[in-house]
Amino acid sequence: LSSGFAQAYAGLQFGYFSILGDGRALMIGEHVTTDNKRFDIQLKGSGRTSYSRGGDGKATLYSMLREYIISEAMNGLKIPTTRSLAVVKTNERIRRTSIEDGAVLTRIAQSHIRVGTFAFVSSTGNKSLLKELADYTINRHYSYIKDSENKYIEFFKEVVLNQAKLISNWQSVGFIHGVMNTDNMALSGETIDYGPCAFMDVYKPNTVFSSIDRDGRYAYSNQPFIGSWNLSKLAESLLPLFSNEMKEAVELANIELKKYEELFIALYYKKMLLKLGITNLKDDDKSLVDELLLIMEKYKLDYTNTFRELSSLSISLKNEDLKNWYLKWENRVKEESTLEESIKIMKNHNPVIIPRNNMVEEALEKASKHNNMELFNELLNALSNPYDYTKTHKEDFLNPIINSQYMTYCGT
Ligand code: AMP
Ligand code: MG
Repeated sequence: LSSGFAQAYAGLQFGYFSILGDGRALMIGEHVTTDNKRFDIQLKGSGRTSYSRGGDGKATLYSMLREYIISEAMNGLKIPTTRSLAVVKTNERIRRTSIEDGAVLTRIAQSHIRVGTFAFVSSTGNKSLLKELADYTINRHYSYIKDSENKYIEFFKEVVLNQAKLISNWQSVGFIHGVMNTDNMALSGETIDYGPCAFMDVYKPNTVFSSIDRDGRYAYSNQPFIGSWNLSKLAESLLPLFSNEMKEAVELANIELKKYEELFIALYYKKMLLKLGITNLKDDDKSLVDELLLIMEKYKLDYTNTFRELSSLSISLKNEDLKNWYLKWENRVKEESTLEESIKIMKNHNPVIIPRNNMVEEALEKASKHNNMELFNELLNALSNPYDYTKTHKEDFLNPIINSQYMTYCGT
């Protein structure tokens, strides 16, 4: 390619600062839709750039198809995400732990501006450049605040809100990003960079799939906290814009960061209670969520299927704990309006189907090693409408075979 550019960014990877940048990605242009929305069009796996360091700039067919199917599944789940337009085989064989087929993914994103983009600019110490990047990002994603009094604080507030929303969405469907480094957090509030991500089957809060996440930094239950940590790093980069007085800038940042926790908890429970068919929150409702999750953990229940069976009133009350909880829930739902009304809400918030790890792996194996796209396309199609309870699915797509040793890799 003679045109296009790689973007610079820094990253706190597992907490350690490094200058990164698109080592295997290239921006080839933007597209403005008829309804005036602007999107980046980026190639991933297109070859070396000035940020490739020791890498070959390439990507495997397996990992690009993985990003394709999981990001499209996220879109089906109505969770903000970058989209996958195409995966094209390069007919190159590339060296990883074994020799694999290479491919290029065309990725569509509201933008590729990351927390790490700000960290990079901040590390240059150039305040006018920082202001320029912030103004650009505001105009692109949050133009409705561009005339407000302290627009950089307002900007930070919006990013905080969007991340709290995004992570509460992830938690509600059991999505584990796996590598929530600051270079993998987009300012648009979209899920970005599908590497070792995976969905939790059995409910277990400390679930980790990523082979490199040995301490569980990015475990399911840690995601909300890491969100806050990453936002604190964004605040650090933005300090010079918050105020000319460092002390005041830090105070302003801290006020907003403290709000994240409250905001997240409110959004999380709102979401989880919709999964239980409850819209008018009452004081005791949080415990209804917490108790169900404890039961799921104790009896090793499947997260998605428990909510789905509840939504279709087909849950088997296998133990006393669940029986008691169910009676409490039933009574609470009746206070709401009717059971039918609640069921309708629940079906819009509890997916019938998620990408099951064993099916994703089988589909990817067939597609990338045996040139057989049949299962991949079938799964992709099944995942496109996960809230449709009238659609029938293959048993295999709904009931996972659990591999307790299951591990995911960055796929670089
Ligand atoms: P990721 O884990 O995909 O978020 O990537 C982390 C960093 O490593 C990014 O800066 C990537 O551009 C870079 N990177 C990943 N794979 C390669 C590769 N094969 N060649 C060059 N750079 C890479
Ligand atoms: Mg990345």
